[in-house]
Amino acid sequence: MNVPLVDLKAQYLSIKPEIDAAIQRVIDKTSFIMGDEVARFEQAFAAYCGAKYAVGVASGTAALFLALLAHGIGPGDEVITTPFTFFATGEAISQVGAKPVFVDIDPVTYNIDPNRIEAAITSSTKAIMPVHLYGQPADMDPINAIAEKHGLMVIEDAAQAHGSRYKGQRAGSLGHSACFSFYPSKNLGCYGDGGAVVTNDPKVAESVAKLRNHGRVTKYEHDELGYGHRLDGIQAAILGAKLPHLDAWNAGRRERAARYDELLADLPVTTPEHLPYTEPVYHCYTIRLEEGVDRDVIVRHLKAQGVGVGVHYPIPLHLQPAYRFLELEPGAFPISEAMAKRVLSLPLYAELTDEQQDDVVATLKEALSA
Ligand SMILES: *Cc1c(COP(=O)(O)O)cnc(C)c1O
Repeated sequence: MNVPLVDLKAQYLSIKPEIDAAIQRVIDKTSFIMGDEVARFEQAFAAYCGAKYAVGVASGTAALFLALLAHGIGPGDEVITTPFTFFATGEAISQVGAKPVFVDIDPVTYNIDPNRIEAAITSSTKAIMPVHLYGQPADMDPINAIAEKHGLMVIEDAAQAHGSRYKGQRAGSLGHSACFSFYPSKNLGCYGDGGAVVTNDPKVAESVAKLRNHGRVTKYEHDELGYGHRLDGIQAAILGAKLPHLDAWNAGRRERAARYDELLADLPVTTPEHLPYTEPVYHCYTIRLEEGVDRDVIVRHLKAQGVGVGVHYPIPLHLQPAYRFLELEPGAFPISEAMAKRVLSLPLYAELTDEQQDDVVATLKEALSA
């Protein structure tokens, strides 16, 4: 059996007429860049997140970059974040000229450990950027309390967490600003690149809206130097068609995840755990292998049998060649480094069938006992 890690085709086929109509609508209007589809989606997505504003941008990376700029973060500033994330989190901090300051993770949730944040704060710290990894919100109450005490901004990297909740409140409304990616495989994904900055702060929303579009205030007048980081009309129309289905897809992911939890209970692996007051959306279903198990062998076996698996992420940011200049050695963030060696993501999406899931588990069992 072939079970891909993600199956975008299955989701498309389930709502094909809606997607096709949305795309055709944009073509009929030839409203390809920005326009009413973008404005309409921005309103709908802000409301979905429980926030006042959403500003559509070119990608999740652009959202992180522009949010940092809009909060006035730049050269000489430090931003505290996790090393156990996708590269773009650190990259955006570096691209605005600031320095990413890493703080190790909690070994149960894989998210930034709030207990370690204060020790990393210096007079240059301007913001904390928690990542809601795998779709589970970071522990925001202690993070926000620390930020308030030290006068810091909190910018969520919510690229994996569309629709997740922390104490009932959605990701996107848990800090000062939040950054989303609509990369095709994200919980809410378009058919190309896309992203959004979500905030309750009108100044931040206005600043991101200006920066994404060359600092423009009118067609020919540019207030400041900006960027070409706009969201396309076709992408916005697709996102608008998909948004009403997001809660059902996330519920489907949670159901599939619960089924994995049961099926994997007897295997020597650690299944995902979440804080009792969070509702995760399982962007990834990521298990942890026992210490000493050769993950490469397991991955090879699964792939050879047609099971798509991923590793999120094998190299923590501080050990990436691009971050050699930070001069952080192996051992600097031991929990992130240990988890990076042991995590393994299994296929997960609302359309995954019982049969496919049983096959994944049987193949994993085989691999573990080989
Ligand atoms: C996907 C992702 C990003 C980047 O989003 P793009 O749309 O690919 O630029 C940033 N941070 C995290 C945690 C992500 O998963």
